[in-house]
Amino acid sequence: MADHCTFCKIINREIPSKIIYEDDLVLAFDDIKPAAPAHVLIVPKVHLDSVDEVSAQDPIVAVLVNRASHVAKQLGLREGYRLVINNGDNGGQTVYHLHLHLLGGRFMTWPPG
Ligand code: AMP
Ligand code: ZN
Repeated sequence: MADHCTFCKIINREIPSKIIYEDDLVLAFDDIKPAAPAHVLIVPKVHLDSVDEVSAQDPIVAVLVNRASHVAKQLGLREGYRLVINNGDNGGQTVYHLHLHLLGGRFMTWPPG
């Protein structure tokens, strides 16, 4: 738990969210400002600021990807989806608690902005 972290507060139910999936390692909830018909954030329950804090020995990113696949199936995104991790200010990261964006429900254009 990091003080003043929005996602830690969501994990601790101090801020409400629409929870899509939960287990002992991760929480998945709807993005408050969806960029696609389906836009779910998958976050580790342990606070890490960003991918820059993930060690090679830590399986958390593999867990996030695995749970994203699970959530995509749960949401019926059979035609595909996109997974995004924004990192740092120029990467577009605005919440400094590691998270995976799961976007789907429409064709995702490339390259992203
Ligand atoms: P990023 O810009 O990659 O750090 O992503 C942060 C995401 O968190 C943005 O897409 C925001 O819309 C989303 N967000 C911020 N606050 C909340 C909240 N209270 N509940 C759900 N999503 C949020
Ligand atoms: Zn946090």
